[in-house]
Amino acid sequence: MTMHVLLFASGNRHKAREAEAVLTLAGVGCEVKLPADFGLDFDPVEDGGTFLENALIKAHVLYRLLNERGGLDGAGIGAGILADDSGLCIDALGGRPGIFSARYGERDGRKIGAGERNALLLEELRDIENRAARFVCSTVLLFDENRFVTAQETVEGEIAREARGKGGFGYDPIFLLPERGLTIAELPEGEKHLISHRGKAFRALTPFLRER
Ligand code: IMP
Repeated sequence: MTMHVLLFASGNRHKAREAEAVLTLAGVGCEVKLPADFGLDFDPVEDGGTFLENALIKAHVLYRLLNERGGLDGAGIGAGILADDSGLCIDALGGRPGIFSARYGERDGRKIGAGERNALLLEELRDIENRAARFVCSTVLLFDENRFVTAQETVEGEIAREARGKGGFGYDPIFLLPERGLTIAELPEGEKHLISHRGKAFRALTPFLRER
């Protein structure tokens, strides 16, 4: 199996590990590295209006940063830059928190922890019957400034009445898969990748990795 080295435009190791697992399970052996692994100070301003715009912003900011350091090949990133933007969209809240999912509940510009964020969201939804929600993930595989492919996917579910489970990250303990009767955080190890928004969106990119 060819081993691809990909640079993931994120500071989130959970997401990088998920991307690596998904692509490897799909038969594309890869090592997913973060900007921090190359000593890069990656802090993009995510001011796009959609998941896709924000994913593209992350990919391009990292591409330019890397170019100042001699480009993709110079850094040994043969296969390109990977980026994603994701979030939780709740019908009863008109799609919120959506692209602001990482910032939900922040105080004075400071993000709060996932446990506190989940508790706050459950409180906001306490008297709401319609629990329908979805995770959305937009992915980008960027080869150079003007060449990239994208994929966007979802996983449908409901917001649980209480947080349950220890797997995954972020909103996983409060995201219920009704047909399984489990939250994503309660799924057996590895199963999240098969059904998740991120799993589906990264898998859609694999043909473009195989070509290279
Ligand atoms: P970003 O894509 O890094 O800008 O942040 C998206 C935010 O949405 C994360 O910080 C999480 O709070 C939430 N999120 C995205 N994907 C997932 C997931 O797979 N599980 C749980 N929460 C997620």
